[in-house]
Amino acid sequence: MTDCKLCSLEEYLKLIEHEEITYAQPHKPAIPGHVLMIPKQHVAIIEQIPDEEFGKMMVQANKVSMALFESLQAQGTNIIIQNGISAGQKDPHVCVHVIPRREEDGLNFLWVPKTLNEEEMSTIELRIKENLTVQLKPKEVEPPKPEKVTDDYLLKQLHRIP
Ligand SMILES: [Zn+2]
Repeated sequence: MTDCKLCSLEEYLKLIEHEEITYAQPHKPAIPGHVLMIPKQHVAIIEQIPDEEFGKMMVQANKVSMALFESLQAQGTNIIIQNGISAGQKDPHVCVHVIPRREEDGLNFLWVPKTLNEEEMSTIELRIKENLTVQLKPKEVEPPKPEKVTDDYLLKQLHRIP
């Protein structure tokens, strides 16, 4: 996709390309040291990423985080995925932000915690639990094909002929 800003890297400075991911810095970072992990494959939302690959991305995000601790003496990191437009995603290409943090660095990701009444709480709890139970079930694996018993049987018979 040529009109994708993350595929073209037009607003980013490439740091390193490694395996399936390009590591880059935005020209306009949230804070100096802000690293973007961009899968080389154009994928819009994280649901489209196979489990194994997504797991690997999280492991790699942790390595970026460690690099920021050591190279910039970050005191903490935020690892952020904006999954969907309403979550702040701007381009239809998955990316992981790793942002180095220091006390009083001026960035603010805090929100005001909301108080729900008991009914609201239990309705939501029920909905999420039901669906999450389904999501967490291991995917069914295709059963192995049955062996051809008849052929085997015939062969055994043949071997017995003196
Ligand atoms: Zn793209």
